[in-house]
Amino acid sequence: MSRIAYVNGSYVPFQDAGVHIEDRGYQFADGVYEVIYFENGRLIDAEGHLNRLDRSLGLVRIAQPMSRAALLVVIRRMICLNRLPSGILYIQVTRGVSRRDHPFPKDVPPSLVMTVRRAAPPSEDMAQKGVSVITIPDQRWARCDIKTIGLLPNLLGKQTAKEQGAYEAWMVDRDGFVTEGTSTNAWIVTKEGRLVTRNAEPAILNGITRRTLLRLAETLGLTLEERSFTVAEAKVAAEAFLSSTTGYALPVVSIDGQPVGDGKAGQVTWKLRQAYRRAMQEGEI
Ligand code: PMP
Repeated sequence: MSRIAYVNGSYVPFQDAGVHIEDRGYQFADGVYEVIYFENGRLIDAEGHLNRLDRSLGLVRIAQPMSRAALLVVIRRMICLNRLPSGILYIQVTRGVSRRDHPFPKDVPPSLVMTVRRAAPPSEDMAQKGVSVITIPDQRWARCDIKTIGLLPNLLGKQTAKEQGAYEAWMVDRDGFVTEGTSTNAWIVTKEGRLVTRNAEPAILNGITRRTLLRLAETLGLTLEERSFTVAEAKVAAEAFLSSTTGYALPVVSIDGQPVGDGKAGQVTWKLRQAYRRAMQEGEI
């Protein structure tokens, strides 16, 4: 069964799918996106992702390509046509195709592209052993809360992490506070057992997984602190972890080569990860 992509109203074979070279996404990164995980045909946290897509579109002033109901029809059709029970759905909306010129084009419809693929969530082994992160300066713009396709600083950061044998790079603002990972939100658990993650503010993407984990943490009776933390604080924390749609909650066992806590995946992280998996399986999210 071959893969199918959705491109501006058509379902096309994946290998033939394309947009015009003057699509503003291609030339200017003038667009936004979402990634939604689906398991056994069920979308996980779809409302959160689609609400965030609407928000990103509004903030960059790109028109909604279609209604929420119509978007859900296309999404379901894509999952069905690709015959994948579980995987990830990628949705991208750009300001459309027009002559390369900085001001917004007039009367140009946005481009909507979707792909579906098998997801490769971090293995259970990785989830049990944990991963390492490095820290790098955050070189992004001031509106990281918008999920734009302009990801160059994130890509450079991830590549640096990879080249140094780390799984992720935590970006650090000018005041020494961790903002987030290049494709994940950053968390620590203090020695006193407090769960800390940066406030949802323009300096970070407010992860859908982040929000769900905060809610689950409350039901687990954990003490939450939505605030900035420094690299130094993270290095002496009891636990650290990453969150994202595809990785859920993934333990961080070393930062810049220094072990976090006892250098093993932490109990709080494990509990949150289990709670997240349970919420997924029980259809709660
Ligand atoms: N921060 C950044 C920069 C990201 O790209 C992502 C993943 N898209 C996240 C955080 C995690 O967000 P989510 O939980 O919605 O996947």
